[in-house]
Amino acid sequence: MMSEEIWTIGRILKWTEQYFGRKGVESPRLDAEVLLSHVLGKARIYLYVHFDEPLEKKELAAYRELVRKRVQRVPVAYLVGSREFMGLDFRVSTATLVPRPDTEILVQAALERLKKIPGTEGGAVRFADIGTGTGAICLSVLRFLPGAEAVTVDISAEALAVAKENAEALGLSERIAFFEGDLLEPVKGQRFHAILSNPPYIPDGDIDRLAPEVRENEPMTALAGGRDGLDFYRRLCREAPPMLEPGGFLAFEVGIRQADAVAGLAKEHALIGQTEILKDLSGIERVVVAWREDGAK
Ligand code: SAM
Ligand code: GLN
Repeated sequence: MMSEEIWTIGRILKWTEQYFGRKGVESPRLDAEVLLSHVLGKARIYLYVHFDEPLEKKELAAYRELVRKRVQRVPVAYLVGSREFMGLDFRVSTATLVPRPDTEILVQAALERLKKIPGTEGGAVRFADIGTGTGAICLSVLRFLPGAEAVTVDISAEALAVAKENAEALGLSERIAFFEGDLLEPVKGQRFHAILSNPPYIPDGDIDRLAPEVRENEPMTALAGGRDGLDFYRRLCREAPPMLEPGGFLAFEVGIRQADAVAGLAKEHALIGQTEILKDLSGIERVVVAWREDGAK
């Protein structure tokens, strides 16, 4: 694919941008830059001030390998082993969903509301994050709420191992407990000010239409939400409300056109009062919040 001529940073970026473009990669220039800066072990800005620098043979070989995998639609995050979320760096593996920018809406919603829970001055709140993946949700909430403590559950031992590494790297291990198991089962009998989750929510019939990056690379256990995509919300809305402290809340990320149905499922529980629906930056209803309002203070 590439000849043995001299490949400078500028030239190879231009070449890759065109190649990725022809192959239908969605952000060809950005991906080329991220992969090359990864190989060189430098920040992206370095590339811009070193366009004329030639690549060493070893660098070129490593870069070519990443380019080859990227056109096979392996997500960039898996190729470089990490992804930025809430301004923090999360290690990812093929056992974890790649954290999405949309999920930052859930984190922000949780932060704002957890800060206002009465009787938890100094931020001494306890919350659960169900389906941890990389730990993106629970670890960023902990990072931005220094008094908080969390528990998190995942059915995948491999994902939990990655989340634990991320907790270590962010210096948060002492404020979080990790459980392997099915939804709320491992934390039964505990109480929380909030229960957060970005569960698998893709309806069965939509799986085939996902981008190849997602469909062929990300774990199906992180994506598949059953016939209508709502299987996990049904269970969470039944099991989670009694585990909330009075005045606490559930906050779930939801898929496109699922918000009303999920808010409805939450309201079916006698302990749930008000619900809120929050939009993401593209105007899609992305987060459902449901408050425990049974007056039992
Ligand atoms: N919270 C992460 C994020 O937002 O990036 C990952 C979300 S991913 C959509 C859903 C996660 O739920 C996956 O890590 C998957 O392994 C986990 N999961 C799937 N079924 C589960 C179950 N029955 N009990 C616990 N976790 C489950
Ligand atoms: N947001 C992911 C996607 O569109 C799905 C994540 C999920 O199922 N919770 O691929």
